[in-house]
Amino acid sequence: MSEKPNFLDYVNVYEFECELPGSKQKVKFKPVTTGQIKKLLTYENETNYVIQEQALDDLISSSVLSEGFSSDELYIYDRMYLLMELRKKTKGEILEFKIDCPKCKSQSINRVNLDELEMKQLEDVNDQLVDFGDVKVYLRHMKRKHQKRDITPNLFPKKLTSTQQGYIFQVLFHACAINKIETPKGIDENIDMKNRIFFIENIPMQQMEMIKNTVESMEFGWKLENKIQCPHCGHEESEEIPIQQNFFG
Ligand SMILES: [Zn+2]
Repeated sequence: MSEKPNFLDYVNVYEFECELPGSKQKVKFKPVTTGQIKKLLTYENETNYVIQEQALDDLISSSVLSEGFSSDELYIYDRMYLLMELRKKTKGEILEFKIDCPKCKSQSINRVNLDELEMKQLEDVNDQLVDFGDVKVYLRHMKRKHQKRDITPNLFPKKLTSTQQGYIFQVLFHACAINKIETPKGIDENIDMKNRIFFIENIPMQQMEMIKNTVESMEFGWKLENKIQCPHCGHEESEEIPIQQNFFG
């Protein structure tokens, strides 16, 4: 039996810590390694949104060093925050990504400094109420476990156009945010996902807007919405910084 060479004691010794803006939990982590990227690349051609997210869960779990940490318990915006911190300590704070201009159809590279984004703390962890009169909707601060339970791979069938995929995602995301619904007859809790989806798809557009606005107001962490200008035609648009596309690779 040969002894373990000394240098192995010095591999993976880099440690960082950050405080999550939602739970205020302090999390110790190490930068992402080439070995982890290799594993992430096995999902490269995966088009199912849910499975892509699971790959990121694995990446988080294998990078966090804090004891008793569970990615399921992360608020979704804390999870995003943590992914950004991981990215910064792995590859630096400059992120470059391709954008397609909707106006002149040309492609260009956008560059953003992740340290210069706006930051928002979570102040109120309680459900937020959207009041339609007889119907009152309680929206929760979603955690990763809520998404995992409610948004399953089979809800994204193959051969969807990206517009269809975007639509389905919107419906599922807002359905997942519903914690309970109060009517004059009482409070419905633990509503199954099928009925929450039905609710979202069948309320008037105006009420849907109210739900959307409230869910949006509950966002926190780094603001991913970013103003992007096309260098070819000058067209300006607000777009979200992509966490998936070449984020760690
Ligand atoms: Zn353009």
